[in-house]
Amino acid sequence: MSETLENLYSETRQFPPPADLAANANVKAEAYDEADENRQWFWEQQAKRLSWAKPWEQVLDWSNPPFAKWFVGGELNIAYNCVDRHVEAGHGDKVAIHWEGEPGDTRSITYADLLKSVSQAANTLTELGITAGDRVAIYLPMIPEAAVAMLACARIGATHSVVFGGFSVDALSTRIQDADAKLVITADGGYRRGKPSALKPTVDDAVAQCPSIEHVLVVRRTGEDVAWGEKDLWWHETVEQANDKHEPQAFDSEHPLFILYTSGTTGKPKGILHTTGGYLTQTSYTHNAVFDLKPESDVYWCTADIGWVTGHSYIVYGPLSNGATQVMYEGTPDTPNRGRFWEIVDKYKVTILYTAPTLIRTMMKWGDDIPAKYDLSSLRVLGSVGEPINPEAWMWYRANVGHDNCPIVDTWWQTETGSMMISPLPGVTSTKPGSAMTALPGISADVVDDEARSVPNGGGGFLVLREPWPSMLRTIWGDDQRFIDTYWSRFGKGAGVGEDWIYFAGDGAKKDDDGALWLLGRVDDVMLISGHNISTTEVESALVSHPSVAEAAVVGATDPTTGQAIVAFTIPRGNVDTSGEAGEKLIQELRLHVAKKLGPIAKPRQIMLVAELPKTRSGKIMRRLLKDVAENRSLGDVTTLQDSTVMDLISSGMTSAK
Ligand code: ATP
Ligand code: MG
Repeated sequence: MSETLENLYSETRQFPPPADLAANANVKAEAYDEADENRQWFWEQQAKRLSWAKPWEQVLDWSNPPFAKWFVGGELNIAYNCVDRHVEAGHGDKVAIHWEGEPGDTRSITYADLLKSVSQAANTLTELGITAGDRVAIYLPMIPEAAVAMLACARIGATHSVVFGGFSVDALSTRIQDADAKLVITADGGYRRGKPSALKPTVDDAVAQCPSIEHVLVVRRTGEDVAWGEKDLWWHETVEQANDKHEPQAFDSEHPLFILYTSGTTGKPKGILHTTGGYLTQTSYTHNAVFDLKPESDVYWCTADIGWVTGHSYIVYGPLSNGATQVMYEGTPDTPNRGRFWEIVDKYKVTILYTAPTLIRTMMKWGDDIPAKYDLSSLRVLGSVGEPINPEAWMWYRANVGHDNCPIVDTWWQTETGSMMISPLPGVTSTKPGSAMTALPGISADVVDDEARSVPNGGGGFLVLREPWPSMLRTIWGDDQRFIDTYWSRFGKGAGVGEDWIYFAGDGAKKDDDGALWLLGRVDDVMLISGHNISTTEVESALVSHPSVAEAAVVGATDPTTGQAIVAFTIPRGNVDTSGEAGEKLIQELRLHVAKKLGPIAKPRQIMLVAELPKTRSGKIMRRLLKDVAENRSLGDVTTLQDSTVMDLISSGMTSAK
C-alpha cells in the first residue's frame, strides 16, 4: 500500500504579476539562479542587509547536524538593527507603528519614539536584574508595548517567550516553568469584543505557581482595578520614568533570541528556540522580497497576534528591521462591526495586507457587500499564512479585497522555520489559486515518498527541507532529543538512511504538472479511504468551492467497510437556508458536488452543517478534535482551543444526527 497522497484536485487558473509591479520589483527572477549557484554566498548577501558589529568568519557551520550555526563569529544587536539605525539614517520622524486600539483610540509611534521607549525598557529590565541569557515571559495584548518589550529583551540579550494573551493560567504557567523565566511583562488587560478583558488575574494565578518569577511589570491599558502584590511594578512608574539613553551591546550571532511554543494543532506545543543573526537575516530578507516592501511609500499591515510566530517575524523583526511603516490593531475583526478591517485599510491607506485563510473564509461567510463599502484601492500586495488557502477563498480575496489585480502571496512556513520558506514572489511568479508555488531563493524544499525519494511532477507525499536555512529552529528548548526525534528522524541520516540530514515538516504536499507546490495539510490528518491516502485539504477545498459553503473541516473516521470514511463539518455562507428539508437537500447536493469535483472515492459519508469549527487560538482548524467526535471518543488536549463551547455544540449535533 502506497503511503503517498492521492492527487485529486487540479487547478488551471493562473495570474501573472501586474507589469508595473514586475518592472519595479525588489527581487527579480535571477535571485533563484544566484541562490542555486551558491546558496551560502546568497545568504551572505542577505546578511549584509543588516548592520553587524563584528563580521562573521563562516557562513554556516553544519559540522554537528542537525544543530546548525549561521554567520559564525559574527556579532550584532537586533534592537539596533530594528530601531537605532533607522534613526541614525535620518528616519527618526517616520512612523513605525500606526496603532489602532479596539475602542478607536490611536497612537502613532515614530522610529525616534520607539528608540526612546525601547531604551527606557532596556534600562528598566537591567535595573530589575535581567541580564543576557535570562528568560522573560511576555503576556500582553496587541499594544505597542508588546513590540517594545520584545525589542528591549533583544537589546540586552534576554530571551523572550511571548505567550498569547488569550491563554489560560495553566498554559501560561507551564510555559513560564518550561523556560524558567525571571520576569513577566503583562498589562491590566486589553480590549476584546468591545469590553475590557483582564490579563493580570491570570498572571497572578500563574505566578503563584512559578517561583522563578521575581517581578511582574504591568502596563496600564484598561485602567480597571487590579490586585497588587509585592512583585508587581507599573510600567508607567518604571519604564516611562527611566533613562532614555541605552547603549546597545552586540551579541553573538547564535545568541538565543526567543522561545516560542507552536500552536498545538497536532498535539502538545513544543518550545521552539530561535537565535540572532540567521533569524534576522531571513525574516528581514523575506519581508522585503515577498511583500516587495518599499519602505518609503508602503503601509504594511499584518493582522496576526504578536503571540504567534507570524507576529514575531512579520510584525516585529521583519518590518522593523526594514524600516517599514505598519499598522497594528488591538482587537477583533467584528468590533464594533464586521467592516472594521476594511475601515482600517481605508483609513491608513494600507498597501500590503498579510492575514490568514481563517479570516478570509470568515469574511466570505459575512458577505461580499461588507468589503464593497470601503475604499480598498490602496492595496497592492496581499498575503496569506497559517493554513492552506482554498482556491475559492483565494479567488474571493483577490476579487473582493484585491480588486482583481493584487498579487496574492500564499506563504508556507512554520514556527520552526522562523521565516517564510515557500511563497510566490509578487513581481516574478504567475500564481495559481491555492498553491504556495515554489521554494524561495536560497531554500531547498521538496516533496518525497516514504523512502525520501523526490516525487515526480504530478505526485504527492511529504514536504521536506533538504538544506539548512538561516532562520531554522536551533532546538526544542531543553529537549535536544525531542528536536531530533520530531524533525530529523523520519528521513535521511537521522533515520539511518544515507548521508544527508532531511527536515521533516509534518505537512503533506504535492507537485502539480508544472512543479508548483500544493500544501495538503498535516500528515497526521491525512485520511486513508479504501487504501487511498486522501488529503483533508482537497476535500475541504472542494466543499468550499460550492457557493453555499464558507468553511469546511474534514476528517477520516473509522469505518467498517472502507477503513476510514470521510466526515465533513461545514459552515454555510451567511444567507443560505439550512433549516429542515432545505438543509437535508443541501447536504445531499454537497456530497454529489465533492464526488463530481474529486471523484467518487472522495464523497463524504456524512456532512454536518455547523455554525462554528474548533480552532486554535491562532485560528487553525483542530481536526484531531473533530476526529474524536466523529469516532465517539473523549476529546484530547483542548488547552489551545479558542472556544470550548464549540465542541459541545458539535458533539450534540453529531449525536442527534446519528
Ligand atoms: P503544532 O506543531 O503544535 O501542531 P502548528 O503546526 O499549528 O502547531 P505553527 O507553527 O503556527 O503551529 O503552524 C505551522 C503549520 O501551519 C505548518 O506546518 C502548516 O501545516 C500550516 N501552514 C502555515 N502556512 C501555510 C500555508 N501557506 N499553506 C498551508 N499550510 C500552512
Ligand atoms: Mg507544527
